[in-house]
Amino acid sequence: MIVTDLPCCPSLKEYREIVGVEQFSAVEELAERLRGIRLQEINSTRHGGGVAEILMSYVPFLNALGLDTMWSVMEAEPAFFDVTKTLHNFLQGQGGFSPEMIETYWEAQRQNEGLIEEDCDAVTIHDPQPLGQIEFLPGRELARKRLIWRCHVQLETVPTGAVGSIGNILRRLVEKYHASIFSSFQYLPLWRVPSFIIPPFIDPLSEKNRDIPATEIDATLEKYGIDQEKPIVSQISRYDIFKDPVGVIQSFRRVRRKMPCQLVLVGGRACDDPECYIVLREVREAAEDDPDIHILDLPPDSHREINALQRASDVIVQKSVKEGFGLTVTEALWKGRPVVGGNVGGIPLQVRDGWNGYLVSTIPETADRILYFLRHPELAEEMGRRGREFVREYYLLPRGVQDHLTAIDQLVNGRITARESVICYHPQVVTTRMATGSAQHY
Ligand code: UDP
Repeated sequence: MIVTDLPCCPSLKEYREIVGVEQFSAVEELAERLRGIRLQEINSTRHGGGVAEILMSYVPFLNALGLDTMWSVMEAEPAFFDVTKTLHNFLQGQGGFSPEMIETYWEAQRQNEGLIEEDCDAVTIHDPQPLGQIEFLPGRELARKRLIWRCHVQLETVPTGAVGSIGNILRRLVEKYHASIFSSFQYLPLWRVPSFIIPPFIDPLSEKNRDIPATEIDATLEKYGIDQEKPIVSQISRYDIFKDPVGVIQSFRRVRRKMPCQLVLVGGRACDDPECYIVLREVREAAEDDPDIHILDLPPDSHREINALQRASDVIVQKSVKEGFGLTVTEALWKGRPVVGGNVGGIPLQVRDGWNGYLVSTIPETADRILYFLRHPELAEEMGRRGREFVREYYLLPRGVQDHLTAIDQLVNGRITARESVICYHPQVVTTRMATGSAQHY
């Protein structure tokens, strides 16, 4: 299915004003160099989760820059999404994967044959769901196009030993691509495919992130029965075990023993995530009808309400135990909110512990840091200010587009020579890697 109901891109002038002339000119120059090529993005859901969030802004922005870009969404039966959710969990180090699941996976790939458009020059396929589409591309098309696999999950060690195992299939498929993109060095597999390290980004002018009037924030709180006088701690994330919403409730209860406050948990349903219903039930059980815990299950287009709830929060938590990047953290930082984030995946790329937020691993630590922010509002404000400037510099749409277009330029113009290449242009990612010394073996 081709997505045709995309919002219009705000004027490019507004983006230039936000990120500055220098950065914006670099993006325009790249777009000019690539003018004439056609791009396609493919993923598995129109709404819900970070990938849909990114594409919703990325695709209109590229078109506004004069690059012809389309977005296609794979269609499949619910059984396929059960399987890909299991795969997602497996790749993040949990559970297994059976041969029947592999068959369901391929059945859906066959049903989507033809999803890759003939007249596109560079095609980016997001996450494992549509990865297998490459098998249906005729050889001459594969030679003419550039195919890129963009991995958004926190890829743990994927066992690739046994022939026919899912790890093996995955590796074989990815190695057919011309390049891959990962959000961080940390989870880069040692596979023979040129890899770019490009972190995701947010759109400062989307409904989710643009400035909104205080009256709208108040009205949203009123609508959901949230007390404006009591401090608000929130986590806004899919109901997913890796986001640990039950851990957030436990942390909140520890905080409330010391200070009156309320918790707002906001989630929604991504149609490629069948497990969210189970997790939501667990969350409701854990909350035990506590009047200070507001559990919201919002429709997928609730961007302005999420914007309002994030802005109304005194502390934003993202207590993930696995996290690809964590756009919710970027969104919170951009809104100048103090953040307490799990020390996993892409969160430490965004939160420098003690400078623009806190990194945590346990429930007591999470509770301590929330409480500290609630008791020190000036410090919370100062950290929030730093967070916003940090995101302005590194994690806004124009910066992400610049990285992607640079990668596409290198691929289309044939500058990648070795399949072992690992390329990163993003200054913040390089700095963090040097500082932590992580991933020495790459
Ligand atoms: N989100 C949303 N509605 C919800 C929960 C989350 O629109 O009920 C958005 C959230 O604002 C963010 C994205 O979904 O833009 C989640 O991206 P992230 O990278 O944090 O996590 P993912 O869901 O991709 O694992």
